[in-house]
Amino acid sequence: MTMPQDPTSPTIVAPQVLLGNHLKALKLPTFAREYEKVAMESARDSADYPRYLLRLCELERIDRERRNVERRIRQARFSQVKSLDTFDFAAQPSLNKSLVLELARGEWIEKRQNCIALGPSGTGKTHVALALGLAACQKGHSVAFTTAAALVHELMEARDERRLRALQKHLNTVKLLIVDELGYVPFTAVGSELLFEVFSQRYERGATLVTSNLPFDEWTSVFGSERLTGALLDRLTHHVHILEMNGDSFRLAASKKAQRRSGHAANLAAKATSQGDVEPKL
Ligand code: ADP
Ligand code: MG
Repeated sequence: MTMPQDPTSPTIVAPQVLLGNHLKALKLPTFAREYEKVAMESARDSADYPRYLLRLCELERIDRERRNVERRIRQARFSQVKSLDTFDFAAQPSLNKSLVLELARGEWIEKRQNCIALGPSGTGKTHVALALGLAACQKGHSVAFTTAAALVHELMEARDERRLRALQKHLNTVKLLIVDELGYVPFTAVGSELLFEVFSQRYERGATLVTSNLPFDEWTSVFGSERLTGALLDRLTHHVHILEMNGDSFRLAASKKAQRRSGHAANLAAKATSQGDVEPKL
């Protein structure tokens, strides 16, 4: 009678297969993917074993960090991914550029401070909030992005379904909570209370970034109660960085520019046709 063969026996399983299994179990995908290539490079460069291992470790750590940043970005649920690289500070001179760049370094998040971006529609508040959120993910912080209306909706739904505590816990543990567009929709009394609780629970425990089209003295119109708004502002503005964005609307400026361009094009076209040139070069 023949004994069944041990499938893990190195005599019958190629070492590459075993190594692949071990690296998978140890969660070292970059090792698994790169070890043969790096072995050839190391042999070519006459690198010794420690150097060979060092190269693989470095690759694994770089790759792991990239995967972690990608995971944090996914979990943040950004409405879009925007960075400061595409933000034109010259178009928004009222905005304190050095403060924004300082905030992008993320120390305020470690200190559990707050940031409020104020200004009319189209001045880049959401863009800056998204960019600061992205920078936070890159610095290793967990982020949650939402709008005030969506957050209140989610809180009310969670309350109705008796899972408010779980949602509150999640909102408390995230390092940076971004609440965009406070001010467009007024809340019900219950909605206001629930949102107040979120801000209140995060006070000195986590960083919060709020954007609003309303100056502080009009926030009562959103929360309904003067007492609640006062208590909320008290907490939110205790350790706060204010970003004032009072310039022109970027959307409006862009569409005006486009209009001017198309107006210019129409003029050119009119001129060209009157000169008998049917296809004007724009
Ligand atoms: P807000 O949130 O203040 O209403 P947004 O951030 O949504 O404004 O800006 C509107 C659009 O204009 C977005 O597509 C945004 O990326 C763009 N935008 C606004 N300001 C700037 C700027 N200074 N540089 C580049 N893009 C901008
Ligand atoms: Mg916005």
